[in-house]
Amino acid sequence: MASPEVFRNWSRLVQVKPQEVSRPQSLAELQSLVKKSRKVRVLGTGHSFNACVATPDTLIHSDALNRVLHLDAAKKQVKVEAGIKLKDLNPVLWQNGLAFPSLGDIAEQAMGGLVSTGTHGTGLQWGSFSDGQILIGMELVLADGSLLELRADRPEDATFLEAARLGLGCLGVIYSLTYQLDDAHHLEFCSRVVPQEEAADPALYKTHDHFEYFTFPFQDQVLMLTRDRTTRTADKGKLGAWFNDVFMENFLLATVLRLTSLWPSKIASVMGLMTHLASEEHYVGRAYEVMASIRRVRFFEMEYAFPLDQINAALAAYHDVNRFYAQKQGAERYYASFPGEVRFLGGDKGSMLSPTLGQPTSYLAAQVFPSFGPGFERYFRTLEEEFRKIKGRPHWGKLFYRNPMDVYPRFEEWNRIRQSWDPGGKFLNPFAETLVQGRNF
Ligand SMILES: Cc1cc2nc3c(=O)[nH]c(=O)nc-3n(C[C@H](O)[C@H](O)[C@H](O)COP(=O)(O)OP(=O)(O)OC[C@H]3O[C@@H](n4cnc5c(N)ncnc54)[C@H](O)[C@@H]3O)c2cc1C
Repeated sequence: MASPEVFRNWSRLVQVKPQEVSRPQSLAELQSLVKKSRKVRVLGTGHSFNACVATPDTLIHSDALNRVLHLDAAKKQVKVEAGIKLKDLNPVLWQNGLAFPSLGDIAEQAMGGLVSTGTHGTGLQWGSFSDGQILIGMELVLADGSLLELRADRPEDATFLEAARLGLGCLGVIYSLTYQLDDAHHLEFCSRVVPQEEAADPALYKTHDHFEYFTFPFQDQVLMLTRDRTTRTADKGKLGAWFNDVFMENFLLATVLRLTSLWPSKIASVMGLMTHLASEEHYVGRAYEVMASIRRVRFFEMEYAFPLDQINAALAAYHDVNRFYAQKQGAERYYASFPGEVRFLGGDKGSMLSPTLGQPTSYLAAQVFPSFGPGFERYFRTLEEEFRKIKGRPHWGKLFYRNPMDVYPRFEEWNRIRQSWDPGGKFLNPFAETLVQGRNF
């Protein structure tokens, strides 16, 4: 047991000192810890933007539970301990000719964290890490320390798996996850700056394997990224990629934004400059290297999921709210300062709390640079009101303020399973209590 230490999430917005911090080294240790603790919450890697990890009680670090337990290349299946980081798992899969079908923007997270928030990439053929088409088995340590195994090939487990595939850390500690994978593959990456109207053509997200674009506040040009499966093998890798190497990974961005925050009204020109600097890129690489980048510039983020055909309405609301706050006077004025991200996803199967609600889904993420001040919360709350008008549902690992449980038809069913597995609320931290009690943040 380590001495108490302050937990800070990746964005540094959330800080809390748990009473106790533990780092179990084995399943048996994890079980006895859960059994004897009053209240526990698990830390993946702290990449969530909201307070889903934060607890004043016992915080369990999952990073020592990071083994590949079983890999069957013929069946294309892998079983891992939930503390393993995606960036450590991807190369192991590659060496065995396997890969996840779709990945998000970074690979720093732990598998248990990815699953508990429904982390996703982009691509209409695939769902998130909580999708029942790929997540076929789980083992959870329940409140009494017992181990519950759930398997997709056992019909009697089906409803429980639907609850556990996206459990918000409230059903138990996930010990292991079993995934059905794809063959290892290469992706051909292309990036281009185009007018927003061009990127809005549905044919693009329907035909490209992984399609997305970045929209810049106060601009009508977007940076469009396509990634398609190819039989070609890696050429120059991603080293030449402007977006990753110069825009996202480079400290220049942070420096420019920090300086701009001293004269925030200049942000529109800076965003314009970014769209001009963005060059066309084209390369082939291993899928997991082409999908994920390293994000060194810290930001705060809210991301909402919408019915597929609502993305243009969501984007219109986003740009309207950006302009609304930029035109306000005095302390009310706030400038959106970071590109927003637009992605598309097939619906997750077999997951009660997936923001996709099982349907093809579009996502819009609004991001802000912290130096632009505390006005971001008012700004996000206004955006959220607009997003809810068009049936938006928040990403569980990002900032949101309105309780979204009213839009989940199976929330009561999920909550009954939660209560039956954890009658004393051992896995409820203040964040989760707020959610299950139907209160807003
Ligand atoms: C720079 C950046 C880029 C991102 N890109 C994307 C993206 O492309 N797509 C996307 O969808 N999201 C993205 N996210 C969000 C991120 O993927 C999610 O918030 C994810 O949950 C973080 O994983 P983590 O391991 O850090 O989990 P944490 O933030 O540590 O935990 C998340 C939740 O999972 C619970 N938990 C963790 N492990 C376990 C376990 N073993 N058992 C039970 N509960 C557990 C925690 O208690 C908490 O409730 C990004 C975040 C950042 C900071």
